[in-house]
Amino acid sequence: MPDNRHVILIVEDEPSLIFTLRDTLENEGFKTLVAEDGKKALEIVGHTKPDLMILDVMLPGMSGFDVCKKIREKNLIFPIIILTARDQEIDKVTGLNIGADDYITKPFGVKELLARIQARLRRSDDFNSKKNDVISLGDVQLDLKSAVVRRPDGDIDLTTREVEVIRFLAGSPNEPVTRRALLENVWRYEYSSNTSTRTVDVHISKLRTKIELRPDDPKHLVTMHGVGYMLKMS
Ligand code: CA
Repeated sequence: MPDNRHVILIVEDEPSLIFTLRDTLENEGFKTLVAEDGKKALEIVGHTKPDLMILDVMLPGMSGFDVCKKIREKNLIFPIIILTARDQEIDKVTGLNIGADDYITKPFGVKELLARIQARLRRSDDFNSKKNDVISLGDVQLDLKSAVVRRPDGDIDLTTREVEVIRFLAGSPNEPVTRRALLENVWRYEYSSNTSTRTVDVHISKLRTKIELRPDDPKHLVTMHGVGYMLKMS
């Protein structure tokens, strides 16, 4: 029987919390890996790609933020949920800009953490399995399988890249997605110093001319100032 269980990497140095996280996650059917510091975490992701990482900020040696940045610099793509202490004021934009997908404040309830994990895994599974082949945005249909936008005024072809951008944004509908997340997930291995977040902006504005009836006043592919973009789906 194939083992399709999701693997969660726990990066945490506090033994009691490691125990709780491990116990909870394994009871839910996840496989877990544990790293007690950033160095170990990077070592593990160097050979095993987890489906999701839970990452504490206050770690011995390298901070959780640095671990997160390093992982994204290596173009490793999997959801990262950051654990922060209540007295560490981290604004959402900073957290998202270093490449984290979500964060949760300690102390947290196990149910809340599980809900966040499930939500993130669902999104990345949907993205990976390329579900949602037709997306309706008002009068416009995005047929991702055929790579065509069906509009009241006619059909327009989408490029492969545009389809990927839409799929990625549609994986987190009505939620802001950072330019960096788009770069890392859509551009993937081509993502380098030559590919800047400006690349994303250029593609988004081209995409708007295809999927928005009024690209100058977008209703669905909207800019989130200081963060990135959002696909509004009702
Ligand atoms: Ca800690």
